[in-house]
Order: sequence, then C-alpha cells, then structure tokens
Amino acid sequence: MTTTSPLPLLVLGQGRDLHSERGVECPGELPPASDPDLVARARAAKAALGDEVFVLGHHYQRDEVIEFADTTGDSFKLAKEAAARPDAAYIVFCGVHFMAESADILTSDEQTVILPDLAAGCSMADMAAIGQVEEAWAVLEDVGVADDTLPVTYMNSSAAIKGFTGRHDGTICTSSNAKTALRWALEQRGDGAVLGGTGKVLFLPDQHLGRNTYVRDLGGSLDECVVFDPHRPGGGLTPQQLRDARMILWRGHCSVHGRFSVEAVEAARREIPDVKVIVHPECRHEVVELADEVGSTEKIIKTIAAAPDGTSWVVGTELNLVRRLAQQFPNQRIAFLEKNVCYCSTMNRIDLPHLVWALESLVDGRVVNPIHVDPEVAGYARKALDQMLALPGETHKD
Ligand code: SF4
Repeated sequence: MTTTSPLPLLVLGQGRDLHSERGVECPGELPPASDPDLVARARAAKAALGDEVFVLGHHYQRDEVIEFADTTGDSFKLAKEAAARPDAAYIVFCGVHFMAESADILTSDEQTVILPDLAAGCSMADMAAIGQVEEAWAVLEDVGVADDTLPVTYMNSSAAIKGFTGRHDGTICTSSNAKTALRWALEQRGDGAVLGGTGKVLFLPDQHLGRNTYVRDLGGSLDECVVFDPHRPGGGLTPQQLRDARMILWRGHCSVHGRFSVEAVEAARREIPDVKVIVHPECRHEVVELADEVGSTEKIIKTIAAAPDGTSWVVGTELNLVRRLAQQFPNQRIAFLEKNVCYCSTMNRIDLPHLVWALESLVDGRVVNPIHVDPEVAGYARKALDQMLALPGETHKD
C-alpha cells in the first residue's frame, strides 16, 4: 500500500497551520500582558492553591514563567517529576502539548494535567501524524521489511505516535538515552547485530537525532540511513533502498535546532579564541560533527556548570536557555551559536497572562485546558515508555 498523506506539507515560514496557530479560547478572562499586578496575582494564586498544584517549567520557557515553576527540566525529567507528585491534584505544565500528554500518561487518573495555552504545540511533533505513520508502516509491510524493523520514537512526539510505538513493541527515547535505545532496538530485530546486521529501526519523528545517534554514537554509516518522506509515495524511497537501510529516519526536524549552521560554528571558532562549541543532538549532522560537545539540555547545563571559570562557549540550543545560562554563570563567556535564530515560538506561547489565567481559574474551581490522552492510546504509550525505563542499565542519564 503506497498512499500519500492528505496532510499538506507546511514549510517553515510559508503558509499557516491553522491547528497549531490557533489561539486558546480565554473569553474575556486572560489578563492583559500590561497588567502590573501579574506577578503578584500569580504568587497569590499559587499560595492559595498550596500543595494542590505543582508547576513544571521546561528549560525553554520564558524567565517570567520559570520564576513560578516548582521544578525545571527537560521533557522526560518533568514527566517523571509529575509522576512523583501523586498528592498534587493539578499539574500545570509550562511546556508544549506532547510534554503535557506524557505527564498525563505517567500520572494517576485522579490528577489533572493543564497546559496554560493549548496552542503551545511542537513543530517537530506535528511532523508525524498518526495516519502518516500507519501508512509508512504499511509501506514497510508491503516491501517485506516490517518484521525486521522496530520503531524508536523520540519523546518529542504525540501520544498517538508513542502509542503506535508501544503497539509495535518499540521504545521511546530521549536525547539523553538515544544511544542505548537504538542499540537495544537493533539487537531485537534481524540477526541481532548492532553494526553490520540486518535489523532496522524506524526512527520517529526527528531525523537528526536518529542519524546523529546511529552515526556519531554507534559508529554506523551514513549510507545505511534513509529518510522516509510521508508526503511522497512510498516515502520517496525504492523498495531496495528500504531493504538496504538500517535506519529509516522520519522526515521530521526541530524548527529551532535545525537552523544552526556550519557557517555559524566556523564563525564562532574564528572570532572567539579557544571557544568550545556545544550543541543539542537535534541539530543537523554536519553541525554536530563540528561540535566539541553534543548533548541534551540537561547535559549542556551540567557541562557548562562544571567548566572552569573563564571558559568560552557557544551554545546551539534554544535561546531562553542560553540566555539564562549566561546569567547564571557570569564567570563563563557564553554566546548563542546562531545570530539569526529566535526562540521556540510555541514554547513561548506560555506567558505570564496564560499562567495567571490557569492558576486563578483553579482558585475559582474551574479547570481550564486539561490534557486527557485516550486510555487505549495511553496504555500503549505507557508500554513504550516503560520499555525505555527497562533499557539495559538505563536510568535517565544526562
Ligand atoms: S525547541 Fe523544537 S523540539 Fe522543542 S518544542 Fe520547540 S519546536 Fe519542538
């Protein structure tokens, strides 16, 4: 079966995605951003709610929001933090939609996860719709390679894609444990050999993390990686290409990390003496190859925190985090890798007015923007998340 997806391809900056661009309905209640009492209102609402509410803040959130976070972290750390707070009836997730879904999957039925602005999506997660992924799997079945293939799905994906992964016995991974996850997956299929074997991985939805992990971390060959384009018949690949590949990479990427360039790395090395380049593995392969260090947001933070005073860094990850690092570690020289990259626009949809609105609504006894994952989908997604936690030697390493 080789049908093309009915979803239009949305090229960054061209056209409008009405689903992810829609604003949340806050009829007449959203405080104006100019309200000078916003900070006081947020404090008062949080104090009134006490232990009933737990606020999670992703590293890429604005400072004005992070100020009210009970804990900060990357997506997986935050989902685990939510699960570790069974007494909090409400988890206010200051992050993006797929993170709130993961928190809902990992928390009890008695807890409610709230996303202050429903328009806070993730362009990468949106690049893999469940219908497209089901079609891709059907292509693999038609070509006769599905039995040799295991899905490995990045945390940055919808609950439906995580559910697909669990249904097909695959695993979720994070940017911290992608190497372990990939090694495990390759051992589960074909002849079980990690390198030079016959097992395959369908890596969703970030092609860069999949490619970087297979080539840089596991020592695989770029020639064994193919990119499955859901907008082209058969993924734009011949049956032979699919048979020869070991890594079938979904054609998805992060619209923030995908912009860091080789030119920016070269310019940094020219302009800043003894600079160290540290980038996130969602960056393009050429950029990752040139970097001194590659790692998750947690690893980036820890590496810079542990570096000797006076060290110079250029950092290839989201700008809110880099700015905060520069403030927190004034004894390091910290610069942003790309001159023209902006913030993650969807992360930035969560602002103080939305947070105040969500908290004050709870004080008034109203739950706004609850995130509920369908129980069947949640069950399979949980299976894939549990598989990740059961990976050999795996705790959530940074
Ligand atoms: S930084 Fe990239 S992967 Fe993260 S939420 Fe934004 S678009 Fe998604």
